[in-house]
Amino acid sequence: MARYTGPVCRMCRRDGTKLFLKGPKCFTDKCPVEKRNFPPGQHGQSKKIKKVVGYGLQLREKQKAKRIYFTLETAFRAYYEKAANKTGVTGDLLLQQLETRLDNVCYRLGFALSRRQARQVVRHGHVLVNGKKVNIPSFQCKVGDEISIREKSKELTLLATAKDFVSGQTRVQWIDAAQDGLSGKITMLPRREDIQLPVNEQLIVELYSK
Ligand code: SF4
Repeated sequence: MARYTGPVCRMCRRDGTKLFLKGPKCFTDKCPVEKRNFPPGQHGQSKKIKKVVGYGLQLREKQKAKRIYFTLETAFRAYYEKAANKTGVTGDLLLQQLETRLDNVCYRLGFALSRRQARQVVRHGHVLVNGKKVNIPSFQCKVGDEISIREKSKELTLLATAKDFVSGQTRVQWIDAAQDGLSGKITMLPRREDIQLPVNEQLIVELYSK
């Protein structure tokens, strides 16, 4: 399936919750979920909101997680399979893998305003992992990895804008970010309580384990 390239706020409105896909706008009252909290489309406002239960609810949680981390179905299922084969709580391990994707780590470090933008930053070769260029957004980071911005890319306007925005946000505990905001080191794997996202991972596990 091709990657969705349309307006992302529609996805939040479809799910009826903020998925934080747009960066600064998500934290203002311009957010469409704040202004128009009904499904998108011509008849969205008049549609009766149905209570979603069972399979529908499980499916919705999976879609939410896929949208937040900007992953496709095949990759998402592979994350689940890997998590299910490890010792531990499958849902937590699933989210841990998604959080430690290189594009997400870059977003957490403030190299971009959104995960989607962080994906571009990685794709365009601006990021180094332990001093080596890595341009694969799904690259899995480990404890001890040092993520930084390539010397030549340090003057990018995007980085300056993102840095200003991120300085006002709460930093995650599992990454030790440098003062200049251009590098950081992963000090531990994220625990569930470190991942503040509106996703019920248990429902995703139930969906895939059928
Ligand atoms: Fe758009 Fe962000 Fe609001 Fe979602 S949370 S509707 S992406 S502004």
